[in-house]
Amino acid sequence: MEETLSCLQCGKCCFVDLTAYAEPGDFDRWHAENRQDILNIIETRHLVWAGDRMISTHTGDYQRECPFLYSAGNTWRCSIYGTRPLVCRKYQPGSSELCPQCKINGKQKT
Ligand code: SF4
Ligand code: SF4
Repeated sequence: MEETLSCLQCGKCCFVDLTAYAEPGDFDRWHAENRQDILNIIETRHLVWAGDRMISTHTGDYQRECPFLYSAGNTWRCSIYGTRPLVCRKYQPGSSELCPQCKINGKQKT
């Protein structure tokens, strides 16, 4: 049976801004929940991949961390956890090299 890895709340998976991969179902849910605050932030950023980094076509700025990530002392948290995008819900600790748990477990999945 495969070991279930715990999340260290290190925030590394949120420093690539997974919200750029929000799906239509996420937008539908945020509209239904009247989360215009989330929609305003995501829809005005216009993120695209430019080679090896994500930039905003709106400002030209390099985007690093997710706008909903915040520091809570020694850990990092999601300010929209209850309604975070599906891509974030699907991401499992250790499921890619982004996550330090991947190396701890000796896996090299990508
Ligand atoms: S990179 Fe892994 S350990 Fe860190 S917050 Fe993401 S899932 Fe958790
Ligand atoms: S929405 Fe939350 S879980 Fe998803 S990348 Fe941003 S901070 Fe991380």
